[in-house]
Amino acid sequence: MPVLSPPELERALSLLRAGEAIGLPTETVYGLAADALRPEATARIFAIKGRPTNHPLILHLADASWLDDYVADVPERARRLADAFWPGPLTLLLKRGERVPTTATGGLDTVAVRVPNHPIALEVLRAYGRPLAAPSANRFGSVSPTTREHVVADLGSDVPLVLDGGACAIGLESTIVDLTRESPRLVRPGGISAIELERVLGEAVLPADGTE
Ligand code: AMP
Ligand code: MG
Repeated sequence: MPVLSPPELERALSLLRAGEAIGLPTETVYGLAADALRPEATARIFAIKGRPTNHPLILHLADASWLDDYVADVPERARRLADAFWPGPLTLLLKRGERVPTTATGGLDTVAVRVPNHPIALEVLRAYGRPLAAPSANRFGSVSPTTREHVVADLGSDVPLVLDGGACAIGLESTIVDLTRESPRLVRPGGISAIELERVLGEAVLPADGTE
């Protein structure tokens, strides 16, 4: 069911098409969203946040059917976790597909992907039809925003549009699990625990090593 008014959705899409970054609610925190496949668009994210460009971004997808378009050699483990937890606060670290520029991945040959569980984020992703990079919509080093007002207070006129989805349901960043190695490894703890991942995978998930 559409949740944005047609003019609101059209404005969001035209800004994204123009390479702009917009504020977008997700179930975890508000994201600063831009076209992940266009270097000039992700450059806006890095500039507005003041974030180092070697710090990789998470790509937001509309659903798991997009995995094969942006990930190389999607492993069975990824499909099982996607089935169980998407849309939701789980980010999968996988091999970068050719269509994803390294400007979105901090120069790495891996790519982080997730499907957010928020009706506005999903509506924009489906209508836009391309992955959006969307790190938290705050200046580098500030607290991640969980309301539209937080985003506007921190980023002000640097962001031409902040869609309003009310307060975020989770308010905590997504769990990140690395599936590029022999064993799954937690990169960042979050809303979904290692035990829940292990239950679905039927194997151990190595703990975060503290380098994230
Ligand atoms: P956020 O700033 O919350 O959007 O999350 C970005 C985090 O995702 C980074 O700090 C990394 O920990 C992780 N991440 C994203 N892409 C990659 C990648 N290609 N390799 C390793 N970690 C990644
Ligand atoms: Mg943050």
